[in-house]
This record gives sequence, structure tokens and C-alpha cells, in this order.
Amino acid sequence: MRILVSNDDGVYSPGIAALARAAADYGEARIVAPDVERSSAGHSITSSRPLSYKRTPHLVVEAYRVNGTPADCVALGISQWNNVDVVLSGINLGPNLGNGIWHSGTLAAAKQAALMGVPAIALSIPVGNAEPDFNALRPTLREVLSLLLPKPPSMLLNVNFPHEHPKGMLWTKQSVRFYDGKVVPGHDPMGRPHFWFTVVPITETEEGTDRWAVSRGFTSITPLRLDLTDHVELERAIARHGNTEAETVNAQPPNGADEPGVVERKR
Ligand code: MN
Repeated sequence: MRILVSNDDGVYSPGIAALARAAADYGEARIVAPDVERSSAGHSITSSRPLSYKRTPHLVVEAYRVNGTPADCVALGISQWNNVDVVLSGINLGPNLGNGIWHSGTLAAAKQAALMGVPAIALSIPVGNAEPDFNALRPTLREVLSLLLPKPPSMLLNVNFPHEHPKGMLWTKQSVRFYDGKVVPGHDPMGRPHFWFTVVPITETEEGTDRWAVSRGFTSITPLRLDLTDHVELERAIARHGNTEAETVNAQPPNGADEPGVVERKR
């Protein structure tokens, strides 16, 4: 099994080292990750300049650093290594829960894999005053990987570990009721006003969600999908307005030719 490992904390993060070490027990692992930290980069790609791919000495597995975003790294990694079976992204230093996953580079790396037809798992752990103890996490990580590999049950999975040793594992849904992004005003050392777009802790949790599980000391696993369509609203709109012209669409030729280089998703 070929396992591509990436992250958004950068190729030198202790989290990616721990993940690659664990992945190497399940197959051939290779790291392709950003050369510097790209946390909160979301699913941006670098289209305005070329990317470079440099071999990087690493303790455990073959590793490369890329001057790009997490999504760039995974796209490059999959295109330059034949038959990647699964992509692992993380282990992120910081949780990726609820609406925060919209901003997450860790999730974006996994999403990029899923877009290219390769199943992917994002993994994250909270950071307290001290950095996470990845040695202590080893048995838990192994338990999760053994459950999800070699064939992940779905294309895109979001795993969050609790801060302390987990009480167990729960399948959860994304918590969407609360948003933790906040613009906080302040002053720079010269007394000029500035603003910090930061994250504030959320204490309320909805039962059955990722945040609920992690805040109660469980490892959370959430299956995600790439289809953002609001299917309920779509049904409602069609029922209300009808889609009378839908039948005539097939009779119309498409506008322009298909885009070059477009691939159909494998799975
Ligand atoms: Mn990060």
C-alpha cells in the first residue's frame, strides 16, 4: 500500500513525523508537505507560479518539501507517485472541529486527495500549554489507522484526538451551530489600531458532534463529503418553481469545448 503523508504545519512538524512513522507500519509511506507552516491556508492552490519539490532528509520515510499550499503538496504528491492508495494529513497541532474545517489546510490536503479520487484521512490533536505527546498517542493512532486502513470506509474522514488519553472512539457529525472565528481589535507597539482574526474557544457543544466527542475525552471520526449542495433546499426549489426547462437542456449543445486536462474522479 502506498501512503502519501502531508500536513499544513510544514514538513518539519513533530505531528507529521509521528504520522509518517505510524503509516510506515502499514505500507510504503512518503511525505510531501509544505516547506513552511501553512495553517489556515484552506484549500488554496498556487496557480500564479511553478512549484518546486525538494528531497528533504527525514528520519523515517522518503520526504519532500514544496513551496506551496497543503493542497498543492497533495496534488503534486499524487501526480509524481503512481498509484497512491491513501493520503493521510496531519497530525495537525490544533483541533479541526466544526466550522473551523472550512479554514483548515489539514482538511484541504485531504480534500484535494478525495477530489483526485484517492481516499484521505485528516488527523488533528489539540495543543495545550505543552506540545502533544506523540509517543503517548502511538497506541491510539495505531488503533485508528488499523480501523481505517487499508481501505477507508469513505473517501474523506476527519479524525480529532482529545487532549488527554482517549476514553474511546466515537463516529460523529460536524458541529455547525457555532462559529469560533472572531475579529479582535487591538493596538500595535506604535499604538496604531490593528485587528487579529483569531479563534475563540467554544464551550457549547451539540450532542453527537465532533466537538462534543472531543470535549468529553473521546476520539472523534467524522465522514465528510465534497458535495455542498443543499439537497433539501434543492428539492424545495424545484417543487416551488419547477424545473420546466430541464428537459430542453439535453437538446442544447454545451457552450464551448471541454476544458483541457480535466480528469474524471476515479471513485
Ligand atoms: Mn496546522
